[in-house]
Amino acid sequence: MAVQQNKVSKSRRNNRRAHDALVAANPNECSNCGELKRPHHVCASCGHYADREVVAMADDVDLDEDAA
Ligand SMILES: [Zn+2]
Repeated sequence: MAVQQNKVSKSRRNNRRAHDALVAANPNECSNCGELKRPHHVCASCGHYADREVVAMADDVDLDEDAA
């Protein structure tokens, strides 16, 4: 088992963790549907990127219809 050579003080530990906070996402509004999306990513709700559709969205799939 590895054993640390020196005790890390509370101050040094807390100073190290000062930069560990998570930063919030910075979403953009989709220019096609207005939904919030990640910048430089295809819109998850309409499949558009830079005003053109790059991912065809499937129509609503009714799972109950297949079971019947
Ligand atoms: Zn969109």
